[in-house]
Amino acid sequence: MTELKGALNQVEIGSAPIERFRHLLDDDVRSELDREMDGLVAALRGRVLWNVNSTARGGGVAELLASLIPYDRDAGIDERWVVIEGSPDFFNVTKKIHTLLHGVDSDGAALTEEDRRQYEQATSRNAAALTEIIRPGDVAILHDPQTAGLVPALSARGIHVIWRSHIGVDQPDDAVRNAWTFLRPYVTKAAACVFSRNAYVWEGLDPSRVRIIAPCIDPFATKNEDLTGDTVTAILHAGGILQGRDGEATFKRHDGTRGHVVRTAHLEETALPYEARIVLQVSRWDRLKDPIGVMDGFAGHIAPSTDAWLVLAGPAATSVKDDPEQPEILDELTRRRQAMPSSVRTRIVIAQLPMEDTDENAAIVNALQRRADVVVQKSLAEGFGLTVAEAMWKGRPVVASRVGGIEDQIESDKSGLLIDDPKDLQAFGEAVVRLLADEAEARRLGTEARRQVIRKFITPCHLIEQGRLIQEILSRTPA
Ligand code: UDP
Repeated sequence: MTELKGALNQVEIGSAPIERFRHLLDDDVRSELDREMDGLVAALRGRVLWNVNSTARGGGVAELLASLIPYDRDAGIDERWVVIEGSPDFFNVTKKIHTLLHGVDSDGAALTEEDRRQYEQATSRNAAALTEIIRPGDVAILHDPQTAGLVPALSARGIHVIWRSHIGVDQPDDAVRNAWTFLRPYVTKAAACVFSRNAYVWEGLDPSRVRIIAPCIDPFATKNEDLTGDTVTAILHAGGILQGRDGEATFKRHDGTRGHVVRTAHLEETALPYEARIVLQVSRWDRLKDPIGVMDGFAGHIAPSTDAWLVLAGPAATSVKDDPEQPEILDELTRRRQAMPSSVRTRIVIAQLPMEDTDENAAIVNALQRRADVVVQKSLAEGFGLTVAEAMWKGRPVVASRVGGIEDQIESDKSGLLIDDPKDLQAFGEAVVRLLADEAEARRLGTEARRQVIRKFITPCHLIEQGRLIQEILSRTPA
């Protein structure tokens, strides 16, 4: 990162060839991508496309920007990424906003005038620094609530501002509305507001300025790159998850160099047998991901009638010191597993993945998803399930709860199986057993899943939508 004026930092970004997607796309999508990228390059000539958020690492937004920007840059767009700074007080307020936007009323407390004062103090300092480097006529995409307060000052300078929300809930309550009321005066000054799905659009916004752009995955990222069967086995063996033979446990890092899996996952028992059939859930140790429900569903409804193993994979507890809830849930899960009869317990593997090296972690997740016979995502709520899209890209049959963004991702019985009631362990178990028993059915769902992800949720889909929006805004008000 390079330090800029004021409290800003610029994230260094390389470029990546958009050409690599060609073989994945249908002719019509390929032509559309060419058309939109050419149009965007022409519309942005002489302008800079800026992205502004509050963190360079960690979290879905940082991951999305790190994967998208290189393709625009390769197409000839001068696109940059700036990270704002704030005091602990500012981040306390934005954390409160974030919690409220998820429908959780933090301490029953609504946002106050003092919160607004803290928030505006930080955003006006950042806006002052930004308007020194962003020129009138440039385009700025501001991400999430931390940057909403920058919209009025940047718009007033003649900068074309898009504000983008990456979070949302299916059923807004008073807590959610409280956060909307706090932020709405800022974001209504934007040329457009972007949400991940229709259900997440706030009340009280001008519909003509609202657009939907779904998140996407990059098939060429370390987490998703193609791996041979031997490499999958070698990575899982080197990572201490699977018994078997040594091999070349290598992967491509995000900077293009080759890496080797050298760290092992923490498992409380021995590694899985080489031949094991695997049911997998990958997620943070979060109540909303319901790992305990997955384990109970496996023990009660999958283990008795199959020979499958369950792998619950997530970050090593030692890596999540900033989130006390995750080690707590991991403890609860481990204790519950210990209390199970050994016939079931020995087939339940809680895998804490090494997190020291993000690329190594991604390679292990990639190998796990590719090796799994069935991938599950039994979430109780979900904005957009990246893990679902990742598994679908890998042609895996997915069993998931019919909640939030997952409903946009999977068409039940066509590209996966959806469970209507996320707490219905029997329905969950039966769906998994059905796929374990019927390989042809599992293959059919997996093949269609991959097709759907390629059509809707990979990088080019996002580039097309975003390119179209920017061109529209620039043609509306030429500066
Ligand atoms: N993930 C990971 N390592 C882990 C656990 C999760 O890389 O140990 C990744 C997972 O592959 C996915 C992301 O974290 O890319 C989680 O995104 P998702 O939308 O599924 O859930 P969120 O954590 O954002 O609620």
